[in-house]
Amino acid sequence: METMIPQPGFPGQRNMPADSVEARRYNRLIRRIGAADLALDFGLMGVILATDWTSDFRNFAVRVAGDRHAVALFLYTSILLLLTKAVGLGLDYYGFLVEHRYHLSNQRLPLWAWDEAKGFALSFLISQLLVQMVYLLIRLQPQWWWVTGWALFMLLSVVLAHIAPVVLFPLFYHFHALADQDLTERLTRMSEKAGAKVRGVYEWMLSEKTRKANAALMGLGRTRRIVLSDTVLAHELGHHVHRHMLKGIVVQSVITFFGFWCLKLAIRWAAYDWSRHYDQIDFANLPLMILVSAAISVVLMPVMNAYSRFNERQADVYAWESVGSVGPFCSAMETLAVQNLAEREPSRMVEILFHSHPATGRRVRAALAWAELHR
Ligand SMILES: [Zn+2]
Repeated sequence: METMIPQPGFPGQRNMPADSVEARRYNRLIRRIGAADLALDFGLMGVILATDWTSDFRNFAVRVAGDRHAVALFLYTSILLLLTKAVGLGLDYYGFLVEHRYHLSNQRLPLWAWDEAKGFALSFLISQLLVQMVYLLIRLQPQWWWVTGWALFMLLSVVLAHIAPVVLFPLFYHFHALADQDLTERLTRMSEKAGAKVRGVYEWMLSEKTRKANAALMGLGRTRRIVLSDTVLAHELGHHVHRHMLKGIVVQSVITFFGFWCLKLAIRWAAYDWSRHYDQIDFANLPLMILVSAAISVVLMPVMNAYSRFNERQADVYAWESVGSVGPFCSAMETLAVQNLAEREPSRMVEILFHSHPATGRRVRAALAWAELHR
């Protein structure tokens, strides 16, 4: 049930429907699941450190692997990853139930489980690779490992972003070349006008799994594909025109540099100033590194979200300018909000802390204000 409430604003503004009780409940639930997930991860790493189980895991790994250091590290990391997954599995399943309860998903349980398995395998591989890299560097360059580690980490992120649309996303979704020839040509022309090289227009078969709608211009450089579901291409091109991908990488590199420096401080502290004296090269200090990284990303989340909302507003303005009217944008926003059970008017605090995009109500009001100015 939706009621119409008048919004404060300028004359001629359309009324936005208020958020349904259902949308509010759903979004509160999703935020709680996110918070619980985080608390579980922090809690698990905290317990492993506080009880010194980390030394037991390390001793076990070394006993099995002997002096093959990389194998011991692989075993130790596997224990941490499996424990984390086991602890979080119940919550993941609860998330699956919630999506169904609110009729946002049409994915069957076996397919969901298969996706979970693939997702875990992928993060397992990437995590193992990172951990091996970090501890190899700590051995080779006890002083400067964190600088080299940061550079390699950034390189790895850029490579992953390049190959993700071709290698990673197809693991989870089907993409079909868009059948509609006219639409393909129009979208390609639109993209080329914005200076984006397009190698194909695909339909993202989201409807196989979710009833939510989304749009994305994924990938970097030559692997860029425009992925089309129920979308606003112009907005995505706005990201391209404003070079948000490149700027994002620069911002990310500054933050991860700071992050790696904090990791260096943390493991030095654990080696020299903590009563435990985990040597720098002793991978029993890994839970400490995980805790520090997680803490940094939580603290910086509002900052990163503010930066993202700034980019989204720029992309929105580009979309209104290139389309020349805000009507389609406003109706797309409203359709998306309804389809995704989004809160159009979350509290300001919720928006500041958690939202990577401005709230729908705010975006629509900004569009109408822009239209008013550019009549
Ligand atoms: Zn966007």
